[in-house]
Amino acid sequence: MPHPCSTGSGNFHGRQAARRYHLEQLVEMYAECSRQKVKTLPRNHAKWKEYFMRLCAICAKENRTCCVYRDILVSKGDLERIAGYTGARNFFELRQPKSPEYLDQDGDPNWNFYTLFADGSRRVLKHAKPGICWFLTPQGCLLPGQVRPLVCRLHPVEFTEEMITGLSRECPAEHLPENETLLTNLEMDLDRAELCRHQLYAELRQETLGHPKAA
Ligand code: SF4
Ligand code: SF4
Repeated sequence: MPHPCSTGSGNFHGRQAARRYHLEQLVEMYAECSRQKVKTLPRNHAKWKEYFMRLCAICAKENRTCCVYRDILVSKGDLERIAGYTGARNFFELRQPKSPEYLDQDGDPNWNFYTLFADGSRRVLKHAKPGICWFLTPQGCLLPGQVRPLVCRLHPVEFTEEMITGLSRECPAEHLPENETLLTNLEMDLDRAELCRHQLYAELRQETLGHPKAA
């Protein structure tokens, strides 16, 4: 399954390009360590088959994709894009973060101010069944890439208002074939992620400045 962040283009200046190189190197080092472990197993071991599958397919097979057991933040822009595409506005709800740890956002000091309403809730996608995203089907996400919430389009990139900070360790990078990086396997690049990040914070700032949300 291609990763959803699949539109747009942009140019990194030198500092950002250097950061990308660094991140990709780290992921590649991590994947290489894990590949060495796979290679020590017998060739008929199930892990060898997985080694040649796309990572998202491996997650789907194990029912542990990033679309499960998550709270997906819905920006005002996301809300309007999804409503425009689906013709419905019943796909989100206001819910408080499950874990208090979520509120620890020291690395991104404006995040809570931008995303929390005065009662501590956030606008997130509903779950169709416990833990299952409203838009997730056995065939994948019902929403086309450009309509999905920006945080979905950004995953597995980690970020703050200032910059892209890393790549999530959630993806099973140990199954990456030798000639692929996490980003190529997910058909994603950091230029596009950077555009999504800018758009997300622009929408959050715009909504918050119009209607201050945090207590
Ligand atoms: S965790 Fe990574 S590999 Fe797994 S479904 Fe999500 S993006 Fe794909
Ligand atoms: S909106 Fe789509 S990509 Fe995002 S969590 Fe739901 S099913 Fe996954």
